[in-house]
Amino acid sequence: MTYENIRVRFAPSPTGPFHIGGARSALFNWLLAKKTGGTFVLRIEDTDRERSSRESEENIKAALRWLGMDWNEGVDVGGDYGPYRQMERLDTYARYTEQLIAQGDAYYCYCTDEELETERQALLAAGKMPRYGNRCRNLTEEEIARFKAEGRRPTVRFRVPAGKSVVVDDQVRGRVTFDSDGIGDFVIVKSDGIPTYNYAVVIDDALMKITHVIRAEEHLSNTPRQILIYEALGFPVPAFGHISLILGKDRSKMSKRHGATSVEQYRQLGYLPEALVNFLSLLGWSPSGEEEILPVEEIIRQFSLEHVAKNPAVFDVDKLNWINQHYLRKLSDEAFADLCLPHLVAAGFVAAELTPEDKAWVVQVLALAKEQVSYAAQAPDVVRLFFTDDFDFETEEAKAVLQDETAPAVLELFAEKLQALEVVDGASVQALLKSVVKETKLGGKKVYMPVRVSITGCQHGPELTHIIPLLGVERTLKRLRASLAKAQA
Ligand code: GLU
Repeated sequence: MTYENIRVRFAPSPTGPFHIGGARSALFNWLLAKKTGGTFVLRIEDTDRERSSRESEENIKAALRWLGMDWNEGVDVGGDYGPYRQMERLDTYARYTEQLIAQGDAYYCYCTDEELETERQALLAAGKMPRYGNRCRNLTEEEIARFKAEGRRPTVRFRVPAGKSVVVDDQVRGRVTFDSDGIGDFVIVKSDGIPTYNYAVVIDDALMKITHVIRAEEHLSNTPRQILIYEALGFPVPAFGHISLILGKDRSKMSKRHGATSVEQYRQLGYLPEALVNFLSLLGWSPSGEEEILPVEEIIRQFSLEHVAKNPAVFDVDKLNWINQHYLRKLSDEAFADLCLPHLVAAGFVAAELTPEDKAWVVQVLALAKEQVSYAAQAPDVVRLFFTDDFDFETEEAKAVLQDETAPAVLELFAEKLQALEVVDGASVQALLKSVVKETKLGGKKVYMPVRVSITGCQHGPELTHIIPLLGVERTLKRLRASLAKAQA
């Protein structure tokens, strides 16, 4: 497929946390724009006045920026087709509503909510699909006058043509045909004058000259309604691509049960934006080769709608962790520390403000966690041993290591030699441990394990040669003595 002058958009409703699924829709649009040198528009669909908030809009924009998805046109940055917030476009919608009414493609409906509900229930009771029975299609002047006198405030409904096949030539799902007889005349403007989603989206996509509408699968069933509006207004119909649902690992629809669902949650847990972008790109799209760790430039280079799958994408957090780990390991020790520091502060391990010396020490401590964590929020657990001298044995088995009859002599000799060290670094500690093994004539394990357990309380963790220099002689000795006493008490 060749793409020319592509204009795509992301059109979120700012009604709550920015969901991973929304970020994936935004990403696929952004990728298409980047790939083709096209334009990526950010439009805010804020017509649900009760649920929309500026705060949510700000969150969405902050998340997009954090993920590196800059928009060329839209809220905040402007452009030729603004305003880009729907509530600022009411005049525009009203103009087209007049046109549709004048053409006979739309009409005022005076039905009350109760009347509509009664109709719905009756259809359901008769085993039929509930849909509007087009009751107000052909009201007489008298009826209209009577409804007005009753103070009823009308909605505006679109007059759906009968017996028409509406074809969606979907770029992802293929050709999908809908029968217009299954669609009742639907509301395009509510009684408070605010347009509905299906209506405003068409006017905006048309006037903003959107060429490709890439969005979530759940909107596929809205598309025939939208196409009918395009046709009634004589607008060219854009290409549509509906990307599949995102399922949890158990293949049910992704929800809070499956863990974090918003971009903000992942940011707070200490995932990297480049990892999240890489992961999101694989939710429905497949790269050409086997390699799944792809920098964004490579994703852009390879991206095409032809390689977006119809079948549902599965959100596998283990895969996200694996990808994130990859990107974490590439960070400098300083950058990794900066990512982890807020978590250490939250754990109460360090103060928010650190002296340069303390900071340098923390950077080295955290470097030990780099290979061991999937995301930054896991760091405090890995480095806990550096911040609390008072700890319990992790297991009974760990405690038993210090109850071995050879342990006291090993620790004593080790302590003696440690005190005598002039330079405490990885190499000298390594040599020291070896000399203890040699002199005690015990196996390596009988030396390393009691030392490790007495210093950390655990049988595994970072290398002793890393831990001891960072902990310092004094703290190490204190721990040796305290642990031995505790194990033997
Ligand atoms: N505001 C709609 C939503 O957030 C946009 C859907 C569309 O892209 O057309 O679901």
